[in-house]
Amino acid sequence: MGCQQCMERISEYLDHELSTTECHDIEAHFEECSHCLNLKNELNALCEATRLSIESIPVPPGLTDKIILSIQAEKQRTSKNQWLTAIFLLLISSPLLLLLTRAFTRVFYLLYVIGAAIWRSLITLLSAVSPWFILSLGIFSVIVVITSTFVIKKLIHDFQLNEVFQ
Ligand SMILES: [Zn+2]
Repeated sequence: MGCQQCMERISEYLDHELSTTECHDIEAHFEECSHCLNLKNELNALCEATRLSIESIPVPPGLTDKIILSIQAEKQRTSKNQWLTAIFLLLISSPLLLLLTRAFTRVFYLLYVIGAAIWRSLITLLSAVSPWFILSLGIFSVIVVITSTFVIKKLIHDFQLNEVFQ
């Protein structure tokens, strides 16, 4: 282990967060490097001094009870908010559910029938005027579908490459 690695790990070592093997590695480095050993001792002393100074501050009477009470109040408030959110979402979604009822289906079907009738009469009218127009329209649609398929495939391919290279 080098000094750089040792310094990156020293905090975890002091907090007893390293595995046994990592502890052995870092301790082996302390034996051969006085600089890192001094750093470890200084940090250890600092931690100890901080702990002692925190412990010397008297805890105000009733603080523990106050903390527990405020945690319980917060829990109650959160669960109340969750209920209110659930009721609110239910109220918002109920008009959406109404839209899916039979009345909505009927309106949708009516629109579909009107659209289909308009489309059929348009096609009949156009084929009566010029059969070549219908043929060229068909060929044009096939070309558009093929081209758009290639464009979409290219877009998806480029997108995947961007994902990989970022
Ligand atoms: Zn070192």
